[in-house]
Amino acid sequence: MNETIASNIRDLSDSGEFRFAASCTVCGKTWISTPTPFSKAEGIVKSEVKKFFFMKCYHKEKRNAMAAAIKEAKSSLNFCPVCRSLVCDDCFMICEHDDMCIDCASYFHEKGERVD
Ligand SMILES: [Zn+2]
Ligand SMILES: [Zn+2]
Repeated sequence: MNETIASNIRDLSDSGEFRFAASCTVCGKTWISTPTPFSKAEGIVKSEVKKFFFMKCYHKEKRNAMAAAIKEAKSSLNFCPVCRSLVCDDCFMICEHDDMCIDCASYFHEKGERVD
């Protein structure tokens, strides 16, 4: 599940904050993570040495922010075990036999309830 989200997540981060987005495969709705500010965004980078340090911090914080975004995505996005795609709650069905996205549910004529 983590890898599925990680491979579908898009990086929207800029130098001031980290933000990630993922889209529902069925309806295309885009989920965006809660932005995490970069702790050293205020820092003025003058020397090359500082710039190196700055970038190191940036990448480290970005990795952490991405891990948090993946965790957060799990509460808004679902993984369809049938077509192996990422779908939003509106497009995900809790079916009698298995949970799956609405595309797969209609293909298999599964009846189910939507996630609220
Ligand atoms: Zn959707
Ligand atoms: Zn599916």
